[in-house]
Amino acid sequence: SLPTVGVITQITPTSDCPANKLKQVIAVLDTHPILPSSLFRLSHWIHHYYHCPPGEAWNLFFPKRLRMGKPNEWPKRAGKTKAAPDHRDTLQKSSVLSPLSLNPHQTTAIASITSALGTFQTFLLEGVTGSGKTEVYLQLIETVIQQGKQALILVPEIALTPQTLRRFEARFNCPLAILHSGVSEGARFYHWKMAAEGLAPIVIGTRSAAFVPLKNPGLFVVDEEHDLSFKQQTGVRYAARDVLMMRAHLEKCPIVLGSATPSLESLYNVEQKKYTLIPLPERAGKSKAPPIKLLNPRNEKTVSGLSETLRKKITEHLSQHHQVLLFLNRRGYANLLFCQNCGWKAKCKRCDAHLVYHHKKNHLKCHHCLSTTGLPSACPECLTTPLKPVGVGTEKVESILSEWFPDYPIVRIDRDVIQQAEALQDALTQIHGNGPLIILGTQMISKGHHFKNVTLVGILDIDGAFFSADFRSQERLGQLIMQVGGRAGREEHKGEVLLQTRFPEHPLLSTLLHSGYAAFAKTLLAERATMQLPPYSHHILWQAESKHPQRAIDLLTWIKEKSQHLISNKRLLPPPDLIILGPIPALMEKRVGYYRAQLIAQTQDRKGLHAWVNHLMAELQASTIRNTARWSVNTDPQEVL
Ligand code: ADP
Ligand code: ZN
Ligand code: ZN
Repeated sequence: SLPTVGVITQITPTSDCPANKLKQVIAVLDTHPILPSSLFRLSHWIHHYYHCPPGEAWNLFFPKRLRMGKPNEWPKRAGKTKAAPDHRDTLQKSSVLSPLSLNPHQTTAIASITSALGTFQTFLLEGVTGSGKTEVYLQLIETVIQQGKQALILVPEIALTPQTLRRFEARFNCPLAILHSGVSEGARFYHWKMAAEGLAPIVIGTRSAAFVPLKNPGLFVVDEEHDLSFKQQTGVRYAARDVLMMRAHLEKCPIVLGSATPSLESLYNVEQKKYTLIPLPERAGKSKAPPIKLLNPRNEKTVSGLSETLRKKITEHLSQHHQVLLFLNRRGYANLLFCQNCGWKAKCKRCDAHLVYHHKKNHLKCHHCLSTTGLPSACPECLTTPLKPVGVGTEKVESILSEWFPDYPIVRIDRDVIQQAEALQDALTQIHGNGPLIILGTQMISKGHHFKNVTLVGILDIDGAFFSADFRSQERLGQLIMQVGGRAGREEHKGEVLLQTRFPEHPLLSTLLHSGYAAFAKTLLAERATMQLPPYSHHILWQAESKHPQRAIDLLTWIKEKSQHLISNKRLLPPPDLIILGPIPALMEKRVGYYRAQLIAQTQDRKGLHAWVNHLMAELQASTIRNTARWSVNTDPQEVL
């Protein structure tokens, strides 16, 4: 068999491992440790906190090249050793684009974070979009570089645009290490090495960049800290923000969490005096935050979800040579194809989901398993024709818009039309041309982008969030409204936001619109406190899935019964407030052919919760039932299935 790459963590004269399981070291790949001791300790923490095997925790820190057994050296080209680049001289050069003169809020923010350099402290930089958070990061980074140290910045997946990178490049005349899934394996190793050897003073990337070693760590930043893309949903289910926080603690650096709409977790930690709140209450430039108005589509004529008022407003803004941005978080033409005679609906065979009708491709597609089928010409049950498409997706809205506004380009941005980075780049280039046009998109357009000439934002359908079974859905809705709305009026022209909803009297909406996100978040936190939900308690989600309809539930039932049995025999002492919810089938029970179920453990005692999981994982590992379904443990889950 092939040799396996291992990690030496310790050298001892004796071992508890049985002699027949010990392996010989065949070759030593590296003579120097790859990770500093701080990251070695961090991998330990990840192993315990996220309940993953130690090897999986280490693997997070190593580029693929090293995991495959290549030594940690600059890659050789054509038999020659590629010289390590030396950019140290550039560090002394002055910046290319000079910093802006700060407003008083920014000055205060920078002063308090600067005074924490060299120590661990967490700051929550709460500022509306356009309040100058990025300018604060940039000027802090400058100080960090002058001290000969490095800054690591995490950004959400879809926010790492060429535009963001250019802003950093234009300000600093030094190498930037860039790490995200779009960077090729070879380039990624190069960037990783630039960071690890201290040659790149600035490291910027998506969630996996939290694991990149730095020679001289000085500052950590998590931009849009509330963003869901920081949480890994498969394998080691880590939250990059929380990992980086622990890392900042171990490496004695301040960490800045920035957001216009902070997570309830972070606001709670401010309340608990664990984080220092730094507000940036106003927009930095000349622009003002746009007012948000509600439109009830029940009260007026609507065509495919677009109300008459919205149509008039679009006309108005376009005729003033401005851009309009419409947000609809649903792709395709119609959500559902159904028979008006017998009620038959087109459903996926492998998922508990309706098939979405795509008009141009002329097929039905499942947005969960991505399978497609041709369009039935008649109802398969009663042979009635035609079948009726119901519900509106971006493809349908695009077709209506091009009928209504034939003289203006319509730039649609969703995963159906944007499948490669180049397509997104083309769309963005068209928008940055600043001519009048309509941008229509899903959450791909909700954040990160700075569209200078957008003055009208329309949010088409958010009502589903009021009925979601996920207790976090209202928090996310508030964040989404503020983030999407924040795209309007970012430069000299005044912006406005129209929100279409059939529930304009919803109390949470009026809190959000009249009193702002902070008051909205406070209301939600009070609800969470009453119900003892996170952040007032901790969750661990135990998930199982199997192609067999019963096995996932059976495995989780086994865990629950084992727990009850051990507790009643006094062999397991759980936290007194431990509640076990479930097992229950997932909201979408069947997905890509698998039946899924879940069990949630909830308590205020985090340590006790980890001990409970460890005990039951050991029991499960020792039993043959462990192989009857795929299972996983998710610490601090962010979404129910
Ligand atoms: P955020 O990251 O909070 O969205 P940015 O840092 O991107 O905010 O700033 C928003 C806009 O305001 C940018 O165009 C930026 O150049 C401008 N800006 C930021 N700080 C200042 C300042 N102190 N004076 C003038 N303009 C500023
Ligand atoms: Zn029918
Ligand atoms: Zn499917």
